[in-house]
Amino acid sequence: MEKDMIRYSVITEKNPREIVLLRGSGCRWRRCRFCDYHLDFSSDSAANFRLNQQQLNQVTGKYRRLEVINSGSFTDLDETTMAAVKDVCLNKGIKQLHFECHWNDRAAIAGLRRDFSALNIAVKLKIGVETFDALFRESYLVKGMDGVEPAEIAAFYDECCLLFGLPGQTRASMEKDIRTGLAFFERVCINIMEENTAPIKPDPAMIDIFKKELFPLYKDEPRVDILLQNTGFGVGGCLNGGENRD
Ligand code: SF4
Repeated sequence: MEKDMIRYSVITEKNPREIVLLRGSGCRWRRCRFCDYHLDFSSDSAANFRLNQQQLNQVTGKYRRLEVINSGSFTDLDETTMAAVKDVCLNKGIKQLHFECHWNDRAAIAGLRRDFSALNIAVKLKIGVETFDALFRESYLVKGMDGVEPAEIAAFYDECCLLFGLPGQTRASMEKDIRTGLAFFERVCINIMEENTAPIKPDPAMIDIFKKELFPLYKDEPRVDILLQNTGFGVGGCLNGGENRD
């Protein structure tokens, strides 16, 4: 991963918020067959904290909402970084804070909510489910969630990410995933697959179908974010113009 990756951005449309892409010790699952985002990690927690503090220093609190993302789960961020997140929320008046968390780390969510709730900050948890077709998700994508049903996932999480443009998907499967996501979660974030170093490659025909037939239906839905490029939230690209994040 590039050292000069863009790690701070402002999302101005739909649920406006600031976003920081922080670095932690790395995703502990690392087996998803479509992902190389887990390469963004360091075992040097002091270096991670320095990098993360630089990003958090840019937060202005203009929307009172902040999204914190990192490869893996919030539990992979070091303690000093988590303390810095708390500080920036208090200093900049953040009232809604979004984190990501893998299914395997869900036991830590209740404590996180309690900690921030004591500070009058609502925490929203996002999970990359990619699809609610559990057989496809686990046998092909190897997401590491077994056969959990949407209601079980929604008992822990507020928001979900879907991944479209994969071989084996159809228009009907993508639409069913969006409808399920909207039925069980507050917000749905759709990512369109882009080629990276992982084994699964995008299916151009499926991406075309999504863009022509589903994008027009959901582009104005306020509860749906659609990232046609993986840098759509403004983070993950390189300062020199490349892209890194999946
Ligand atoms: S998609 Fe998420 S959980 Fe899966 S390997 Fe990548 S970072 Fe880890």
